[in-house]
Amino acid sequence: MDISSVLQGGYQHSLSRSWQSRRALTKSMFMYPIFITDDPDASVPIPSLPGQRRWGVNKLKEFLGPLVEKGLESVILFGVPLNCVKDTRGTPADDTQGPVILAIKKLRELFPSLYIAADVCLCEYTDHGHCGLLHPDGTIDTAPSVERIAEVAVNYAKAGVHCVAPSDMMDGRIKAIKRGLIDAGFGNKVTLMSYSAKFASGLYGPFRDAAGSAPSFGDRKCYQLPPGAKGLARRAIQRDTTEGADIIMVKPALPYLDIISDAAQLAPDHPLACYQVSGEFAMIHAGAAAGVYNLRAMAFETVESMVRAGATLILSYFTPEFLEWL
Ligand SMILES: [Zn+2]
Repeated sequence: MDISSVLQGGYQHSLSRSWQSRRALTKSMFMYPIFITDDPDASVPIPSLPGQRRWGVNKLKEFLGPLVEKGLESVILFGVPLNCVKDTRGTPADDTQGPVILAIKKLRELFPSLYIAADVCLCEYTDHGHCGLLHPDGTIDTAPSVERIAEVAVNYAKAGVHCVAPSDMMDGRIKAIKRGLIDAGFGNKVTLMSYSAKFASGLYGPFRDAAGSAPSFGDRKCYQLPPGAKGLARRAIQRDTTEGADIIMVKPALPYLDIISDAAQLAPDHPLACYQVSGEFAMIHAGAAAGVYNLRAMAFETVESMVRAGATLILSYFTPEFLEWL
């Protein structure tokens, strides 16, 4: 056999196998998405997301305390308002007594070392379930949408969040949020993580169950990206870096590894996040339950593929498991 044919000598030991990764997985790469509802004592299982619950602020200590002990370093909050009055502009999004703002304050107090991000969107809070404000014909009215989303982001910053993460996909919102943060005195205090390449995916179903954020009519295809849109994704990533995003995100993750890889090349100087979304998580669980593969092995394989593609931060419902496994 030719010398150049022989590779196996290089990875015959578990340690030398670990050296084959450019970057090793660490606990700090994982950000845990959590659902906060407006019943302060809630601890309600979400059937379509195995092991995940909707939590009330009074339960955060018992929920997250053990995870922080195991090395949890960051969470991203999603508000699930079940009792508020929703309207056309998503007024409850930044209600000072709403679940997200109360949870930010509570978590800052309970866990001073925990990094707290908050998803910023209007769809959980609008009566029509869309991510922005609408024209009478049901299309997005961009300017007031962006203004409102920036206002919500600034109010989360005022509550003490470390990172705001707009997921709405409205044109121009990164620039507006960054300007808003700077003008309110948070330019050097709050990170802006953009859901830059967020695709109109079939993998969001369990999340919509969990967050109650399905649109009441139509879909989100006029603002989320078409699955085949590599070029649009690249343009969105480049736009958001120039508009002031501190972190670029690709969502979902596994079917879009090429986009993660593109983002790593287009924005090499930014941290790069990807979101292993609810449907990816549910799919891995379902496959494992059906005996197709081992859950842990597949969880590792999927997140390792994301890191290999260039991700430096992974939003995943597997975070509690990885705190045990790593
Ligand atoms: Zn939304």
